[in-house]
Amino acid sequence: MSVARTVLLKVSDNQWLRENGTRVPFIRRAVSKFMPGESFDAMLVAAKATAAEGNASVFTRLGENVKDLEEAGAVAAHYLEGIDRIKALNLSCEPSIKLTQLGLDIDRELAYRHLRDLAARAHAAGNYLWIDMEQSPYVEITLTLTRRLREEFPRIGVCLQAYLFRTREDLEAITAKGIGVRLVKGAYNEPAAVAFPKKSDVDANYVALAQIMLGPAAQAAGSRAVFGTHDLQLIQTIRGHAQTTGVKASEYEFHMLYGIQKAAQLRLAQEGTRVRVLIAYGEYWFPWYMRRLAERPANVWFVAKSLFG
Ligand SMILES: Cc1cc2nc3c(=O)[nH]c(=O)nc-3n(C[C@H](O)[C@H](O)[C@H](O)COP(=O)(O)OP(=O)(O)OC[C@H]3O[C@@H](n4cnc5c(N)ncnc54)[C@H](O)[C@@H]3O)c2cc1C
Repeated sequence: MSVARTVLLKVSDNQWLRENGTRVPFIRRAVSKFMPGESFDAMLVAAKATAAEGNASVFTRLGENVKDLEEAGAVAAHYLEGIDRIKALNLSCEPSIKLTQLGLDIDRELAYRHLRDLAARAHAAGNYLWIDMEQSPYVEITLTLTRRLREEFPRIGVCLQAYLFRTREDLEAITAKGIGVRLVKGAYNEPAAVAFPKKSDVDANYVALAQIMLGPAAQAAGSRAVFGTHDLQLIQTIRGHAQTTGVKASEYEFHMLYGIQKAAQLRLAQEGTRVRVLIAYGEYWFPWYMRRLAERPANVWFVAKSLFG
């Protein structure tokens, strides 16, 4: 892992900066490259513009490791209202949440009740609920709660991270249950005991996992195959594999973040590949933004430039 990536990921975990970093004007200016604004309305403007360009979207209100129950309840209420507003607008925009945002660190059962409420509302609205994946200590509980939710609701999916050694086994178990998977490389600072330290190994594992997702067992179980990546070479490899194995373009999707590889998002859609754009918004963006910088330390130059207006 590069030194810059390690430093930025450590900064993302710093409690003081998490709470105060968002007030620094030049960082606020720089984050706008990845975030249309802090409000749900700002997200909606971006989702409508994305729809006009031919792509559907996913919405996520930034936040993690919520420390009190009231805040967890407010987050759940925000998402419930969001799902209703999206239905009223007839927009294809799917919610994606972090379990620690729903109070997982304080009370697991309460977090599950909130999660269940969101799945029920999404189900009633004909929508789909995505569950993000956080740091490795949360993987087991996230998958346990996802499997429990799947017993009641069919339209749910979870994020799995290609950098973890355990993911191959998780992926086979999750897809067999017909749960959707959004495969990503992984955004956190993980120890070598649990994750591949070398990027080339993560990329190779991603391809192997993608092949399982597009394989007959996962497809027969009805698992939705989503690849959350901006890696254009990887995208080409996955499309090529799908084509040679007879998987139709309508049977898998690429999800990318708002503001990243926009030209590729548009081109893929024009070529008939299904693309969704994940639009993040909210006030608590500091750790999320640091992870975006860590993915491409060259982005730090945008921050430096915004220091001078
Ligand atoms: C829809 C979606 C949902 C995600 N959900 C989760 C989650 O729940 N849990 C989790 O751990 N991670 C999540 N991630 C983040 C993911 O783990 C990676 O950190 C991130 O996608 C970067 O990896 P990459 O596949 O784009 O490949 P990389 O090899 O990192 O990047 C490939 C190329 O994409 C471009 N690029 C990538 N990132 C950036 C950036 N920040 N700024 C500018 N250009 C960039 C660059 O051109 C780069 O060369 C999600 C990503 C996406 C797209």
